[in-house]
Amino acid sequence: MAEETLTFQAEVSRLLHIVANSLYSEKEIFLRELVSNASDACDRLRYLVLTDPKLTEDDPEFRITLSIDKKGRSLTIADNGIGMDREDLVENLGTIARSGTQAFVDQLTGDSSKDVALIGQFGVGFYSAFIVGDRVDVTSRKAGGEQAWTWASDGSGKFSIAEAERDSRGTSVTVHLKKSEREFLEPDRLRHIVKTYSDHIPIPIRLDGEDDKLNAAAALWTLPRKDVSKSQYKEFYHHVGHAFDDPWLTIHARAEGKIEYTLLLFVPSVRPFDLFHPERRHRVKLYVKRVFITDDYEGLVPPYLRFLRGVIDSEDLLLNVSRELLQTSPVLTRIKSAVIRRVLTELKKKAEKEPEEFAKFWENFGAVIKEGIYEDPDQRENLLKIARLRSTASGDELISLDNYVERMKDGQEAIYYISGESLEGLRRSPQLEGFVARGVEVLLLTDAVDEFWVPAVQQYADKSFTSVTQGAADLDKLPLQDGDAAEGDGEGPSDSQTATLIALLKQTLGDAVKDVRTSERLTDSAVCLVADEHDLDMHLARMLKQQGQLSELAPRVLEINPKHGLIKSLAQRATEKGASDALEDAAHLLLDQARIAEGEPLPDSAAFSRRLADAMMKSIAGTT
Ligand code: ADP
Repeated sequence: MAEETLTFQAEVSRLLHIVANSLYSEKEIFLRELVSNASDACDRLRYLVLTDPKLTEDDPEFRITLSIDKKGRSLTIADNGIGMDREDLVENLGTIARSGTQAFVDQLTGDSSKDVALIGQFGVGFYSAFIVGDRVDVTSRKAGGEQAWTWASDGSGKFSIAEAERDSRGTSVTVHLKKSEREFLEPDRLRHIVKTYSDHIPIPIRLDGEDDKLNAAAALWTLPRKDVSKSQYKEFYHHVGHAFDDPWLTIHARAEGKIEYTLLLFVPSVRPFDLFHPERRHRVKLYVKRVFITDDYEGLVPPYLRFLRGVIDSEDLLLNVSRELLQTSPVLTRIKSAVIRRVLTELKKKAEKEPEEFAKFWENFGAVIKEGIYEDPDQRENLLKIARLRSTASGDELISLDNYVERMKDGQEAIYYISGESLEGLRRSPQLEGFVARGVEVLLLTDAVDEFWVPAVQQYADKSFTSVTQGAADLDKLPLQDGDAAEGDGEGPSDSQTATLIALLKQTLGDAVKDVRTSERLTDSAVCLVADEHDLDMHLARMLKQQGQLSELAPRVLEINPKHGLIKSLAQRATEKGASDALEDAAHLLLDQARIAEGEPLPDSAAFSRRLADAMMKSIAGTT
């Protein structure tokens, strides 16, 4: 077949442009990425060989070879791994057929330090060859196949595919180096890069014509902990995690006994860009007796620990376990719960001993851990122990639920919380006033998932979670903290005046409110909205409406503060003649004002403007 020219997927083109033009800072990582791919290709073939030994009969030793062509100014990275046929080449090196591609490309900024990290995370590894190369050829022959193919591109929108010769299976990636990149033709430079970035790759890497390996070529997780340095852990983390940051936590452990396995897991110190992708997939690789099996077995790590990177190597599974059989393997179910326990124990230790370090973890991954509180009842207690939250009393610090419970006031029955979009917004909520005035701490919850775990948990330390924006406030048993707040306002309106005002407001507002009542939770503001105790929490309802899962918000309860000057005057006016006409605008303004405090759009903003203008006119007329 003659050579054929094909076009890159649009995202790849954009990516290549950024890769080729703005990633200068850590150029040598291209070699790490290509070696990593070569090693993965060997891993994948080794897995196939479990069921089809013929595939490697002619050439059973896996290896990676680097060849330098000084005259031709090119560097070739060759492996005898699984190889690719024509279709694989087009698919793997012409598209990014992965979920979240668009979102990923959209996040690229052109700021190379940020983009390098992103690109690593997304695993566009192969394309990094274009950082140093102005042309890349890939000649590959699939294990078990006869025909070889060459893929070639200069990275500018198109690539070609043509039939080729290759003696045996595997892939050779030839990078035609830009003039400025001659350093990658120096054997010493290559030795150093391999040692730095790929030492632990369990496949021997050699320079063409030399016998000595450039790397240690031992699977790092099989070594005793004392023999592994911090920088080796980091290097391995960068390899398995496609990462560039330092691991925040490294867990390296071996379990012996009923089930035997080794794990080497890392918690990143930077939040991966796809952490909140709806697929919620983890990135932990499963090995059996040092043979890579899959990085796509969902049941290995629960979604709420999906930030973990690393490997789990089981001694108990049969080597020829098929990926389908994994689903029902009791061994894996046990490994999974053991892994969860181990990780949570480590996290708890950090939380107790190094709270400041733990706070960094929590800022990155707290929202993900909270999914576990909701989804994994077995671990709920443990997860609640490490959960960190902010409150009206916590300032910028994070507190635990135990901290909260210890600080509860005498007579306080519930753990109070309020949920919303932002801390600043929540701190300004009128519904908090009565709690703050009584020194009662209220948790400020700003993650969407809070709307799910709190109702699922219901209680902590025998205290119920109670939203301050829902139902009655039950604050009458708790004394106000400083006497002034109560005194300063003097007498409120009489009960009958207040009752008349409430009746009038109900009549005027009709179905727009569920009820109107006096408030215990207000001290400074005149009005606020709360949800009826049988309805959804207001923030949850707003979230669901935004996502189109709820067509209308249920009417809320309007609470009024009889000690507020405005309400006082209105209550007095309410008992006078002609009040219902005079107070009609005021009723609507009160409700709209409460909506604005909630950050909600007004159903009729034109009417609001008109009423407000009228009210201002009257007040100006009154003062002149
Ligand atoms: P990633 O390695 O993260 O999947 P890459 O862009 O580096 O992303 O590679 C894309 C795909 O191309 C790989 O998933 C793999 O299927 C294929 N590939 C790359 N290099 C090789 C190789 N040396 N041998 C076989 N397949 C390869």
